[in-house]
Amino acid sequence: MTRELEPLARPGLGHANYLAYLDACGMQSAKVAQGFADYGTFQTLVSAQYENGNALGDEELHSIALHELTHLFFHGIAPAGMPDWYAEGLAETFGAQGTFAWDGKTLSVGGSLPKERVATVRAARIPLALLVDVRVLVLMGQDREKSRIFRAECQLLQRFLMQDDCLWHARFEHFETQCRGEVLGAAGARQQPDPMPAGARFKQLFGEDLDKLEAASSPGWISSSGLH
Ligand SMILES: [Zn+2]
Repeated sequence: MTRELEPLARPGLGHANYLAYLDACGMQSAKVAQGFADYGTFQTLVSAQYENGNALGDEELHSIALHELTHLFFHGIAPAGMPDWYAEGLAETFGAQGTFAWDGKTLSVGGSLPKERVATVRAARIPLALLVDVRVLVLMGQDREKSRIFRAECQLLQRFLMQDDCLWHARFEHFETQCRGEVLGAAGARQQPDPMPAGARFKQLFGEDLDKLEAASSPGWISSSGLH
């Protein structure tokens, strides 16, 4: 990732060009976002400007580049269509602002989510029963702030599930292995994978425990967000 970040982040891309690219590849739904992982051409695209023409700051630009590169990396290893809460949680693990450091030469990733973002989740948590069905681009179009909370909650939930002593750790790894091994929801060339089959698999494996998982994961967030 270190080598790929530099050419992506420095020149950036004007917002009009970003929108034109999405039109050309039929991904208009991604116009609400600042970046896009194009599985068809295997490249990530980051708009270096907001819709209003203002330039993004370096850290935000790097954050979006890392976020989108994580999507691309996952897809390159196993092109399964994962539910958005999984895909966004993983992308935020490597791309959330405050969790990585880049000095122009070296990239370190995997730090804790900043306390302010953990606090936004604590204040307005999305219930798990709803969270698992969220389509992030739809949510971004409706409520940008809520989509930020969603991504933070996904990151915290995934880190909770990845803890060795988490009651659901083995089941979560089993879920990941199944989705990737069976390449659930994989699509043809130049198409986005379908997250529905993996979403259904998660509900099959975790459905009965969603309430318990919700209750258990919340107090664990502070400790899980301290993992490295
Ligand atoms: Zn994403």
